[in-house]
Parts: sequence; structure tokens; C-alpha cells
Amino acid sequence: MIGPSSTIGIIGGGQLGRMLAIAAAQLGYKCHIFDPGGHPPAADVAAYLTSAPFDDLAALDKFRDAVDVATYEFENLPVEPLARLGEKLRPGARSLAIAQDRATEKEFIERCGARVAPWRAVASLDDVHAATAELGTPIVLKTRRYGYDGKGQAWIGAEGDAETAWAAIGEEPAVAETGVDFVAEFSVILARWADGRHVFWDSPQNEHRDGILRRSTVPCTDVAAAQIADAREAALAIAEALGHVGVLTVEYFASPGGPLVNEIAPRVHNSGHWTIEGAVTSQFEQHIRAICDLPPGVTGLMRGRAIMDNLIGAEVERWPELVAERGAHVHLYGKDEARPGRKMGHVTRIRR
Ligand code: ATP
Ligand code: MG
Repeated sequence: MIGPSSTIGIIGGGQLGRMLAIAAAQLGYKCHIFDPGGHPPAADVAAYLTSAPFDDLAALDKFRDAVDVATYEFENLPVEPLARLGEKLRPGARSLAIAQDRATEKEFIERCGARVAPWRAVASLDDVHAATAELGTPIVLKTRRYGYDGKGQAWIGAEGDAETAWAAIGEEPAVAETGVDFVAEFSVILARWADGRHVFWDSPQNEHRDGILRRSTVPCTDVAAAQIADAREAALAIAEALGHVGVLTVEYFASPGGPLVNEIAPRVHNSGHWTIEGAVTSQFEQHIRAICDLPPGVTGLMRGRAIMDNLIGAEVERWPELVAERGAHVHLYGKDEARPGRKMGHVTRIRR
């Protein structure tokens, strides 16, 4: 057990790191953020900051020696340098390596016995044409690496042809994935301990616009709720196969034929932000508990319903009205520039 007053290293200094550091501070830990930026959002609430590129080996060595345990909040990290953190890194680099490449990720998910939408790996325009012929349309091209919030994606079908889509994703190695006519989207969020103990939260139903999460609502509507048991079983199989320690999120499409995994995130997730006020133990506190080997916290709902809305880009300008709203829990991430599509904060409302 890593006790209070120890230092937790967090690689990545975005809003997830910020909310992890806040939860860690509540339990008496200090946090040390490792991020290439000079003023990342997490550094405002952490004791220490190393500002260095993610592949700066000397900086990583110093960071390793300064922390008692380390974790990551960001997926687009070079994996190899993380080996320097050795046993201190939780979850391990394997969870990251698999999740950050969409082709490796899908193969792994299928090996774990879970289903994904029909897909092909593509590396050329010819491959894209072949995939379109085999899978039919609509299909979506997604770059294997570096995608988030719908970036690095282009559709082929009603809206676009193969050439345009291939050019739009920068002719990068990609997956071609069948468009799913889903009834709903939801996620399974779980935390796993090194000895195999695990807990689930209630699953949020998720609404996206332009590839970005807008709203998560707990509990799910009936149609998605009926698929949660199968989805949990698959998510746990994935966590176990990874030997994952900490929070793991599995995003799902509720399709007419049952749950299909969209993707996994080896970390706390935007669709779990509602747990800060909506659950007895938040995903952030639970992640700290799991990586420090403290006992699991209770995950049940505080009240009947939780609704989390993201504040994206200029929406953050509504903050004066939101902080004045009775019972609204407002979270602002301390980012200076409200660029379009940038996650600036979120607001959670708890209802009976
Ligand atoms: P994030 O990192 O924010 O989760 P991302 O860039 O990894 O986003 P995805 O999760 O792959 O993107 O896709 C974002 C959203 O786009 C999905 O939640 C879904 O609404 C839609 N989408 C993606 N793939 C498909 C698909 N095959 N069929 C239908 N809709 C899809
Ligand atoms: Mg996603």
C-alpha cells in the first residue's frame, strides 16, 4: 500500500490529470505532473511539474526517482520510454500500447471474445477500395494512431467517396470500420486492482456530436441497459487480459444485435465525470485507490440520476449563468483559450 504523503506521478497534464490530482490531494497525496507544456491545466493543482517532452529519457529518470507510483492520463504517448518507469507505472505500458493503435486494439478486443464492428486495416487507397467492396458503406476511416474527439476520421458513403476520405485522414495507416446503426452509445467504467479485485460503476449513456462527447446520463435507458451485463463481462475480460491496474473505460455501441465495442481507454474517461458528484466514489479517487493499492471505494449512485454536459469551446462563456444555477456542479479546467472543439469544462446535475 502506498500511503498518504507519498508522491503520485501523472504523465499528461490535461483536465483528467487535474481531476486526478484533486482527488489525490483529498487523500493526502502530492502529485507530480509530467507534461511538455509550461502551464498544463493539472499543474495548477499539483505540487510539482516536470515540463519536458514525453521522450526525454533523462527527465523521465528523474521523474521516476521523485515519485512513489506513476500513472498516465493521456494516450498519445511514446510507449518505449515508459519502460524506464518499470514497476512504478500503473497501469502498465501494455494497456497503453494496445489502446493507442486502433488495429492492435480491435484484434485484442476480438481475442478477448468481445465483438467490434466489421473492420479492415488499410495502408493504401487500394486497401480502402478493397475494404469498401468487402464491407459495403457507410464505413469510417480512422487513423490507427493519434485520434481523439473524432479527429483523424472520415466517412465514406452518403457524404464522401474513398479518395476524399483517404486524403482527409492524411493517407495515414488506418482502420476502415463499418458504420454502426446504433440504438444508443454507453460505456462500461471499471476499476481493477493488481490482485484482480474490481468494481463497476453504473453505465452512462453517451451522446456525441461531431465525434465529441456532449452528454452522459446515468442510468441508461432501457435499450442500452439490457446490454450492460454482456458488456461488463467483455470489459472485465479485456481488463484481465491486459493485467490492467486502475480505471479502464470501454465505449460501446448498443446495436440491435447486442453490444459492440467501439474503443477502450486505459484511464479515467470523460463519460465518467458524473461520478464526482453522482457516485459515492469518483472514478478519479478510485483510480488513485487502485494504483496505490488502497481498498476499493463504493461505486453506487448518490441519487437517482446524474446528467453531465461538456462545455466545449465558446460554451464555457456560459459559466456565470451556470455557477448561479442552484445545484449545478460546475467544473472549469483552467484553459486560457476556448478554441472550437476544445473541452473547457463540464457541468453535472444530480436529480432524484
Ligand atoms: P474519443 O477519444 O473522444 O472517444 P475518438 O476520436 O476516439 O473519440 P471514436 O470514439 O472512435 O473517436 O468516435 C467518436 C464517435 O463517433 C463515436 O462515439 C460515435 O458517436 C461516432 N462513431 C465512431 N465510429 C462509428 C461507427 N463505426 N459507426 C457509427 N458511429 C461511429
Ligand atoms: Mg471514443
